[in-house]
Amino acid sequence: MLYIVPTPIGNLEDITLRALRILQEADLIAAEDTRKTLTLLNHFEIKKPLISYYEHNKRSKGEVLLAKLREGKNIALVSDAGSPGICDPGADLIKEALAEGLEITVLPGACAATTALIASGLDATKFVFEGFIPRERSPRKKFLKELAAESRTMIFYETPHRITESLKAAYEAFGERQIALCRELTKKFEEINRGALSEIIAEYEAREPKGEFVLIVEGRSAEEDTAPDAEMLVQEMQQLMAEGNSRKQASKLLAEKYGISAKDAYDMSLKG
Ligand code: SAM
Repeated sequence: MLYIVPTPIGNLEDITLRALRILQEADLIAAEDTRKTLTLLNHFEIKKPLISYYEHNKRSKGEVLLAKLREGKNIALVSDAGSPGICDPGADLIKEALAEGLEITVLPGACAATTALIASGLDATKFVFEGFIPRERSPRKKFLKELAAESRTMIFYETPHRITESLKAAYEAFGERQIALCRELTKKFEEINRGALSEIIAEYEAREPKGEFVLIVEGRSAEEDTAPDAEMLVQEMQQLMAEGNSRKQASKLLAEKYGISAKDAYDMSLKG
């Protein structure tokens, strides 16, 4: 049996009783970083053979692990922190084990993405997990642009040295949005910054980001979907005026159409 075992993302108390039992009972533990896992196991006084299983040896070590599973061994798979398979090794082994008809058991537990989502206070009824934001400028821009119309709450992982750049890129792609920037979750210096994207950018420009981050961004709102852009409004205004309406009458008609105030419609038509 292959057990997928989540481990704490910072606070050692966030390991379940079941996870500890499975780690105790397993024949061996496959770990992303054996040294890190050893620290965890020592803390809980668990002694087990460890085998490394990480991104760059997953093919060869995956074969070894599958052979042991075929022999009927119980293997617990852990990553450095949180849930294996979520931006961590595990997904391939799960797929290969299932393809061979081998049994897997997934334990629920710590995950930075869902912890941050819930802490954000943003809509958690519908959300999308987008993993790490691309590090290069151009793919990052494209990636965020493609998400500009996403109406569900978005979850991103990010590193300290790219977070400020990514916040700015998000502002360029999405405009103003409510966000929650969750830093060092469950750790001593946990910090959750909730507010407008522009405010949090201003704050982060004045500090050196440190630690691990999850960024939660509210989805595109229904108002944004129906709000006209200024250019469109000017065109419609001109059309209505060409049809004999005064600017005031046209503003009223456009206000009704787009659910905005007549004054806003009037002002927008002048600016455009
Ligand atoms: N499998 C892990 C999980 O279940 O959350 C995620 C592993 S991924 C390689 C590491 C990223 O998760 C970090 O760069 C950060 O974005 C996020 N992360 C992990 N622990 C965190 C924490 N305590 N606080 C904030 N973000 C965290």
